[in-house]
Amino acid sequence: MKKKKDIVYDYVIVGGGIIGLSIAYKLSLKDEQSSILVLEKEKDLALHQTGRNSGVIHSGIYYKPNSFKLKNCIEGRRQLVDFAKVNNISFEMCGKLIVATKEKELPVLNKIYENGLRNGLSLIKLLNEKQSKFYEPKVKCLKSIFVPYAGIINYVGVVKKMEELLNAKNNYNKVIKSNKIIKIKDTDTYKELYTKDLYFKGKYVIFACGLQADEMAILDGIDLKSRIIGFRGDYYNVVKSGKSKVKSLIYPVPNIDLPFLGVHLTKMYDSSVEAGPNAVLSFKKEGYSKTSFSFEDTFKMVFYIGFWKLIKTYWKLGLKEYARAFSKTAFLNSLRVLVPNLKKEDLITGKIGVRAQALDVNGNLIDDFLIKKTKNSLHVINAPSPAATASLAIADEVLNRIKENE
Ligand SMILES: Cc1cc2nc3c(=O)[nH]c(=O)nc-3n(C[C@H](O)[C@H](O)[C@H](O)COP(=O)(O)OP(=O)(O)OC[C@H]3O[C@@H](n4cnc5c(N)ncnc54)[C@H](O)[C@@H]3O)c2cc1C
Repeated sequence: MKKKKDIVYDYVIVGGGIIGLSIAYKLSLKDEQSSILVLEKEKDLALHQTGRNSGVIHSGIYYKPNSFKLKNCIEGRRQLVDFAKVNNISFEMCGKLIVATKEKELPVLNKIYENGLRNGLSLIKLLNEKQSKFYEPKVKCLKSIFVPYAGIINYVGVVKKMEELLNAKNNYNKVIKSNKIIKIKDTDTYKELYTKDLYFKGKYVIFACGLQADEMAILDGIDLKSRIIGFRGDYYNVVKSGKSKVKSLIYPVPNIDLPFLGVHLTKMYDSSVEAGPNAVLSFKKEGYSKTSFSFEDTFKMVFYIGFWKLIKTYWKLGLKEYARAFSKTAFLNSLRVLVPNLKKEDLITGKIGVRAQALDVNGNLIDDFLIKKTKNSLHVINAPSPAATASLAIADEVLNRIKENE
């Protein structure tokens, strides 16, 4: 018999990543007396995407004008930087360089530059190689864009601070870890959320479950057509011998058909330097080794029609990414295109992250953020990069959508 928690919370948030905590934090600011519960399945917060990302504050240069992604990236960046300043979170607006190394990349670089201006980033600069070297002395390129609106931050620090602020607001608010929601039941006035041993009640429930967003939406009775696919990203750490070769953030010109930015060199908030991530289809959503495999995750993926349509379009690229994932030389060669004097001994194997990316039935990777609702719940379904940057603005959007119910 499950033990019940008799308190009926005003809001329960399932998922203790940066989206869940941003929503909880914003709810606590809106109504100091409301009771808010955050439920997280792991023993700590931010152990999945939020704690395994590149730590970059994105500028908004790539995104489609008028997209939800752009609007929230720009507003989220502003709010995130304010939050970091007020709460002493390590961050630095170091800027980034997007470098074109081949003639065929120049039209795309120009397009990105024009897009950036259209998106309101009026201080970006289009540079030749000599000018680029002012920002990144070791870079090799034909042209580059310097983006002063990009930076680096400690995202786990942001989440931990939000937890602290939430708990300090009143005596009802709680963050409960090591509790995975496995069943959801509706009553007339609240939802019941079941874990293995307990159940919790919430008048309104918000799900921000990252890689498990589709599973939770389906469990909550949503007729969800899209599915979440995991794209693994492997990193290398740039050790002491290579660190002086990178000043801040060096990115290639991305493939604009894909929501990934290409392997890049990233200074982190603690002054370490990382290289990566690549983007390889993951056979385990929360699998953090190159050979991680889950029968259940893989079974669900291959029985989804959109998966085969995706494979039909991108199988060649996918195989290339696989080869690079298992070859340090191939990985290094991608980085050497940007910084030619990087050496094999400058890199050691680093962390792994898995991106949650929504895929539709037609095999399209859904580019924009996606939210779905029921009468007493809301699901953040697709929150890929730059959702960490945009988290506080996404939380505002979530609060607005909840208000539509009232
Ligand atoms: C490799 C990589 C690099 C990235 N780089 C950047 C970057 O530089 N800048 C940027 O802005 N964005 C970046 N992103 C994207 C960004 O990290 C994510 O968009 C963001 O962290 C999403 O946050 P989230 O809270 O939705 O998901 P998560 O951080 O994954 O959190 C979801 C949480 O829900 C919990 N959960 C799931 N199911 C249940 C359940 N049944 N019961 C209880 N809890 C549950 C999980 O345990 C998890 O803690 C990157 C992502 C990756 C993977």
